[in-house]
Amino acid sequence: MDAPAGSVAQVALPVALATPLTYSIPADLEGRITPGHRVKVPLRGRSAFGFVLSVGPASELPSDAAGMNLREISGLDPEEVVLTPDLLELTKWIATYYVAPIGQAIEAAVPRSIARPPRTKKGEAPAQEDLATHPDPRAHHLDLTEDQTRAVARIEASLNARDGQTYLLHGVTASGKTEVYLRAAETALDQGQGVLFLVPEIALGTQIIGRIRERFGERAAEYHSQLKPAVRRKTWWDARRGRVRFIVGARSAVFLPVENLGLIIIDEEHEPSYKQSETPRYQGRDTALMRARIAGAVTIMGSATPSLESFTNARSGKYTRIDLPQRIDARPAPTVTLVDLRSRGTQTEESPCGIAVRGGGDHAARDPLSGYLLERLQAVLAAEDQAILFLNRRGFATSVQCHDCGFVFDCPRCNVVLTHHSSEGCLRCHYCNHTLAVVASCPDCQGNRFDFRGVGTQRVEAAIKEHLPEARFLRMDLDSTRKRGELARIIKDFEAGDADILLGTQMVAKGFDFPRVTLVGVINADREMGLPDFRGQERAFQLLTQVAGRAGRGDKTGEVIFQTYMPEHHVIRAAARQDYESFWQQEMSEREPLGYPPVSRLANLLFDGPDESAVIRRATAEADLLRSESGLTLLGPAPMPLSRLKGQFRWHITLLGPQVRRITEVLHGVVRRAREAGSRGVRVQVDMDPASML
Ligand code: ADP
Ligand code: ZN
Repeated sequence: MDAPAGSVAQVALPVALATPLTYSIPADLEGRITPGHRVKVPLRGRSAFGFVLSVGPASELPSDAAGMNLREISGLDPEEVVLTPDLLELTKWIATYYVAPIGQAIEAAVPRSIARPPRTKKGEAPAQEDLATHPDPRAHHLDLTEDQTRAVARIEASLNARDGQTYLLHGVTASGKTEVYLRAAETALDQGQGVLFLVPEIALGTQIIGRIRERFGERAAEYHSQLKPAVRRKTWWDARRGRVRFIVGARSAVFLPVENLGLIIIDEEHEPSYKQSETPRYQGRDTALMRARIAGAVTIMGSATPSLESFTNARSGKYTRIDLPQRIDARPAPTVTLVDLRSRGTQTEESPCGIAVRGGGDHAARDPLSGYLLERLQAVLAAEDQAILFLNRRGFATSVQCHDCGFVFDCPRCNVVLTHHSSEGCLRCHYCNHTLAVVASCPDCQGNRFDFRGVGTQRVEAAIKEHLPEARFLRMDLDSTRKRGELARIIKDFEAGDADILLGTQMVAKGFDFPRVTLVGVINADREMGLPDFRGQERAFQLLTQVAGRAGRGDKTGEVIFQTYMPEHHVIRAAARQDYESFWQQEMSEREPLGYPPVSRLANLLFDGPDESAVIRRATAEADLLRSESGLTLLGPAPMPLSRLKGQFRWHITLLGPQVRRITEVLHGVVRRAREAGSRGVRVQVDMDPASML
């Protein structure tokens, strides 16, 4: 470099700045600063830490910075490069694709609390010692099934060739996907490659982490937001320094600087929790795919119920599909009975596709347990097996209404009804946690008779206590697992057989392997289907199939009961038969005419603020502009299904188009305009590939 006036650096700061700032490099740091270094710089009369994106001669300054009196970088901290070239490229991609400020994308990858290496204690074991720790000899006691052998062989061939292939491991529940992941990880590690293993929610990943620990011991490390910052920081730097090459973690683990990354595993790839709900709103799965592409790594995405996006990519040949169509040991899939809640009869009909449909039987009108479900629960207790009950609604009742005037208790800040929590004696908003003590009389008419509508987990708990007082019982939902360690305790107790029935929200549907569970009961199979979200049916199918997959994973055949008002619905039918293909066909045929993903690409523009008319004006103006200029299909502006949350009115515009590049371009334009216009009481946010439209 022959820059006459020294060099300058583009520095990304962890603030909502759209572009990096330019600083000059002082003489004493000349030649020591490269992209990925963390530097201390002056910013608005203070100092701040940022990351160097690029370094170049001052003569090549971008025109807006040329001739300006540049401030100097004041220091380097730490001395070594923090953000490796791979991660730098990945965070730039996030900033572009998800339309986020680059500084915030980097902050997601390297939070402030871990950006500097911990001081190493003297005498700490050298790196190689950890890696040499031999795996548990019991690890190999499993003989792979034929399907597993075939799957492992294909993946190993890819790892050997380092061909960067993406596999979609489509295996029915209990087909032994985890074993395939672990064998592939072992092969990669044996070849000196690094491995990232992503799970959707760490709290629910304890069983998998247990299996990894058992097999890999100290060779594997966890990384997720529930660990203490000091632990996270140590793991991050252990990865950076090649001390640990196998990381298991949630979404944010995608950023771990594992050396020589050769394999990324994405378990339950369809899970919406891979999407981050705040800026930068990145999809962890898709970010992992980009990371793999940058590193040339092999990827395995696994699921019994793949996202429509991934399955479509597998059909088109973009991903390589591997099927595990059978349960381990050819264990039969559980038998499914649909209980038709509209009917009081007890007759069973065999439908043409082999699913039994029967009436709800004679039970009290407000009882969440049908006669048939109760009967089967009694049989489970008699046989000393275990049962799982699933209801995706916590609390006691979903709403409380005055019997006389119809007044409904709703949240003063959100347009949702308050949920009755009987054990705490309160009504609570599930979005902002606004809590109201139960009152004796109606605020409107002073009446004192109330109707408790809908059913939550606490109401099911009460019904079980009434009908099956001898049952030992655990409840797993957000309320019962708020305390640290509670969730792990519930899982452990149920695993140990200390309870007969585990009742819970969607948490119980997630990947658990409890071999003694012979019965799964779904209290209300219809719930997700009614959500005003184009992914509602997909979620319903995934949840029902996954929760049904918890039954019959041991020696005994499992039974699954779906209580439903829509026993003919194709989603219920497909889930009952664990028939992904027919679900996929039907769902695609419904999305095609509307152009919803994966037929085309979708982004959501969110407008919110305390003054609804200002929100509407802003959204309407933007929509008018986009309609005439963007070349994309526009839906809205319209109020979001949750049209008011925490006092903020929420409107949105949905953008659809066949070309993701055009969408990205348009979104950057929106953000630029919003920045130039200033907020004026309305926040404008971009959600690319949203996981939820609510
Ligand atoms: P999935 O992830 O597909 O739902 P898992 O990997 O949890 O399935 O496997 C289901 C059960 O079968 C687990 O208890 C696992 O230990 C067991 N298993 C997996 N592979 C084998 C095998 N080859 N032989 C015997 N048991 C196996
Ligand atoms: Zn609220």
